[in-house]
Amino acid sequence: MRLEVLGSYGGESLECRMTCLLVNDRVALDAGSLTQGLSVERQRKVEAIVLTHSHMDHTCSLPFFVENVYGRSRDAVDIHAGASTTYAIRKNLFNNASWPDFTRLPNNLLPSVQFKILEQGIPVVLGDVRFTPFPVDHLVPTFGYVIEYGGSTLVWSSDTGPTVRLWELANSVPGLKAVFLDTSFDNSLQQIADLSLHLTPRTMSEELKKLERDVPVYLHHLKPPCIEQIRAEVAAIDDSRIRFLEQGKVYEF
Ligand SMILES: [Zn+2]
Ligand SMILES: [Zn+2]
Repeated sequence: MRLEVLGSYGGESLECRMTCLLVNDRVALDAGSLTQGLSVERQRKVEAIVLTHSHMDHTCSLPFFVENVYGRSRDAVDIHAGASTTYAIRKNLFNNASWPDFTRLPNNLLPSVQFKILEQGIPVVLGDVRFTPFPVDHLVPTFGYVIEYGGSTLVWSSDTGPTVRLWELANSVPGLKAVFLDTSFDNSLQQIADLSLHLTPRTMSEELKKLERDVPVYLHHLKPPCIEQIRAEVAAIDDSRIRFLEQGKVYEF
């Protein structure tokens, strides 16, 4: 499986791009920087988008992406998301006030965008890649995903505080190659992390004790003002599985 990191929310200054990954060139996982991280030509090859939740840092490039592919794609772009995420995006983004409602353009029968509602535990197969949503713990209803392709399995999570189902899956799915985990704030901002349901190096390392397998754990979603401190605090944690997800890098699993 080819995983291209268009945005990890971990880059510094002008290079900081919001969360967005490209799976096998055809499916975007979150859309925080789909238009910043990919040429228009390559955007037009994206057939589907899978969203974790509605927050801006995971959805803000959607309007510009739709504009770039509008009328050029063979079919509508499918946006796969949970019911409450879909509701929030339709209400707050594609609402004609913030941006045109592309689910009704150019017309109701042949729209440019179609929303497909995901339910936890029920997989969807996109370009031979299987995404199975599971609930994590964040301010709004949020999914992580078990992602399977060619015998390799990834457990992907973006925004979450301490959580349960993710670790049950990470300890049981066959072919696990890596786990991806939020580490948004440094330890001095523990209270903010707890209130906003994110992790710090402290709570991330507590979470990692639940993982019984020896696979790489990629940290991402580092808030830019915290990056230096997070890296220093993570370096002091004695766990060889930990690494950082590098923006702009392509991973093969
Ligand atoms: Zn969020
Ligand atoms: Zn986020």
